[in-house]
Amino acid sequence: MPAPARPDDCIFCKIIEGDLPADIVHADEITVAFRDLNPQAPTHVLVVPRSHYANAAELARHEPTSVAALVSAGSAVAAAEGLDDGYRLVFNTGAGAGQTVFHAHLHVLGGRSLQGHMA
Ligand code: AMP
Repeated sequence: MPAPARPDDCIFCKIIEGDLPADIVHADEITVAFRDLNPQAPTHVLVVPRSHYANAAELARHEPTSVAALVSAGSAVAAAEGLDDGYRLVFNTGAGAGQTVFHAHLHVLGGRSLQGHMA
């Protein structure tokens, strides 16, 4: 099944296409990872699929293997960032959960103790 068209107003599609600058830390055939503009932890990287889907659930429905690719890329980023003590992987899914950019993305958070911090 072909990937859906890229909406003109998607900032993550623009980063993937190289039309918007970003601090890219990892890229492969399926994913691109870049530093979050407004970091919530010492290391805060977003891993996005090259295909445009609104959220992780939609990505899983249409491209399940790409969800595994996001998690693999996220763990590679965590290793490269030296997050040996652990890290958090988060998919905010829907506006009610705090999702603000409607292109599926995995947050990789680490660099300080995250124990007990679920929000
Ligand atoms: P979410 O709230 O889960 O949708 O996460 C969206 C994330 O994208 C937020 O943490 C923003 O800080 C981040 N963000 C928005 N615009 C950019 C950008 N141009 N480059 C990097 N990160 C961005």
